[in-house]
Formats: sequence, structure tokens, C-alpha cells
Amino acid sequence: MKVVIPARHGKAFHLAPGDRIAITTPNGTQVGDVWALRAGNPLEYLSMEHTRSRNSNIYVQQGTLLVSNHRRPMLRVVADTSPGRHDTQLCPCNAEIYQELGVSGPHRSCTDNFHEALAEVGLALPFTPASLNIFMKVPIDAAGDVQRCPPDCKPGDTITFQADMALTVVVSACPQDITPINGADCIPGDLVARISRA
Ligand SMILES: [Zn+2]
Repeated sequence: MKVVIPARHGKAFHLAPGDRIAITTPNGTQVGDVWALRAGNPLEYLSMEHTRSRNSNIYVQQGTLLVSNHRRPMLRVVADTSPGRHDTQLCPCNAEIYQELGVSGPHRSCTDNFHEALAEVGLALPFTPASLNIFMKVPIDAAGDVQRCPPDCKPGDTITFQADMALTVVVSACPQDITPINGADCIPGDLVARISRA
């Protein structure tokens, strides 16, 4: 099943154990924010802090096991054609960030996309967990300084996750069009998701 996630929007997908979701950046510059919630208990969710601790690494790459806030395996990266080093540090963008960046009116955000996508499948969460930021290039130097760079991906680069438990996965095509996180031209694009059933 192939689903286009339109620029600036998000979608939720239900996965059974063993199912795979492959997410593609068609233009090579669009990044995505990814969350996962346990089926039947959305208060168990994909945790960036536990994933960093479990893997003793701040990046997600091929082979990384992604764990929940109860440290149970939720997803694993089974294939990745991108340069890897997907970001786990930056928060999902939200309305307040766009205000800080000088936007005066409404602006779509990954946080809005997360809650909208959950609502479309009848779920709700009263807070926004940290996101896994796929294709996002966020180098961190020895002093701890963080940069926000355009992605190094090629058009069509794809990261594939396999579910370890029944999950709802949310993917947001990040609407950021002020910083170059979605490419130097600052034009958000679509993402494409392909679901393969076990
Ligand atoms: Zn975003």
C-alpha cells in the first residue's frame, strides 16, 4: 500500500508485528517527524531518550532498535538508502517556534500534524512526545553546539522500519519553510509511505 503524505501534513498508520513501513523523501530534501504509539495504550510511545540510552548513540541508523518509554522494542531500522544519522535531538516544530521565527499568522506544524493524524484514526494524546526526525541533518559538535542543515539525501532515499509490536505510527511531512531543514530552497514537499504486511 502506497500513501502520499502531502507537504505540510501528517498521516497515521496501523502496523501489526512484523509489518514494515518504508518512508521516502521524493525530492531528497523533505524531512519527516515520526512517532509510534502502542496499540491499545497510547501512553506507551516511542521514546527518543530511551532509544538514545538503549543504543548509546544519539543518531538513528540502519540496525537501530527503537524503544518505548517502557524500554520495549517498538520498531527497528531494517533498511536505509539515505546517509543515515537521523536526528533524535530536536523537538517537533510547533506554533510557538514559528512565532519565535517571526511568523505572525497561523502556520502548520509537526505538532499540529501529529494530533490531527491521531484524531483521524480516533486517538488522542494530551501531550506531544519527542519525534524521530528522519532525513534531518543535525550535526552536534564536541562543545554541544547544534546545527540545522539541509538534508544530504538523494531524491527517493528511503528508510524502512519493521514493527516489533502492534502500533500506530504517525508521520509528518515537516512544514518548516523558514530554516533550511527541508532544503536550502525552504519549500516543503511530500513524503511517501509504503506499508508491507507481514
Ligand atoms: Zn516540523
